[in-house]
Amino acid sequence: MTNRLFFLAAGLALGAFLAGACAHRVPARPPITVPTGPPAVGSLRVRVDQRVEIIAIEEYVAGCVAAELGSLDLTPPAAVRARDVQAILCRSYGAASVGRHAAEGFDVCSTTHCQIYRPVPATVIGRLSREAAARTAGQVLLFAGRPVQPAYHADCGGHTTTPGEVWGGDSPPFLVSAPDHACPRRPAWHLEVTLVRLAEVLRTSTGIAVDGPLREVAVDRRDSSGRAAWIRLTGRQPLVVRGTDFRAAVARGLGPSSLPSTLFDLVQRGGTVRFEGHGNGHGVGLCEAGLIARAARGDSPEAILAHYFPGTLIAPR
Ligand SMILES: [Zn+2]
Ligand SMILES: [Zn+2]
Repeated sequence: MTNRLFFLAAGLALGAFLAGACAHRVPARPPITVPTGPPAVGSLRVRVDQRVEIIAIEEYVAGCVAAELGSLDLTPPAAVRARDVQAILCRSYGAASVGRHAAEGFDVCSTTHCQIYRPVPATVIGRLSREAAARTAGQVLLFAGRPVQPAYHADCGGHTTTPGEVWGGDSPPFLVSAPDHACPRRPAWHLEVTLVRLAEVLRTSTGIAVDGPLREVAVDRRDSSGRAAWIRLTGRQPLVVRGTDFRAAVARGLGPSSLPSTLFDLVQRGGTVRFEGHGNGHGVGLCEAGLIARAARGDSPEAILAHYFPGTLIAPR
């Protein structure tokens, strides 16, 4: 055996040993399969389940549009306007998110952490979504010359809010708190839960531990849109938590649609608290219920995007 071959064989044996050792020590999650080499131009590295796929931007956009909008109860021209808006948003998000998950070896995930992506289905919705990607090919939403990461949600309940008011930190100038007069006023949703159950849900799903038995739940402070920005939970001592964290905790414990938004009033009677509210989702950026209503009444994609993202421009990348 030449020296070179010896070192190659020894290296392979050492590699196999180390791989075995790592696999032994980290059994919890199956490994993510990451393609090697630099990302291809005009594509994104997207994590789908346990794989990372290299997907051409326009294919990614079509998959995102199909996943976000599905079937629409609109005339064909109105559905075209709505899908074109969604395609521009999906592409802008992708363009602004290259390297968002760089430390993990990909650009975007396919969950709501980034934006939802599924492979384009072989259905009418899949075809319509591809057509929206093709009609708007290359178009992104720009602010100060750069593609924006546009937030969107299902239903603002009549008023959008800012990321700073929901999650803290700064808000980009194009994500504003504004009334949405186009938004259809849907019947209020409600949730009734006992204080005992609520305290248990908060403790087990987030570790928010109320001091002693939970005696009172109240809105501590509302944001500029009327959402419950901070919630006060009183046991022996009051504990104030962010509305968005409270909603996430309730969703984890009582089901994903149990408390659809933080745009609620609450009434406590005896040991039970009743939440009554409007909207669905965080309320930041574009409201999909408003998008559909605006597309139905004939607003252009440009006018719809200008309403929800003031100060931005649609431009080819
Ligand atoms: Zn992500
Ligand atoms: Zn709305």
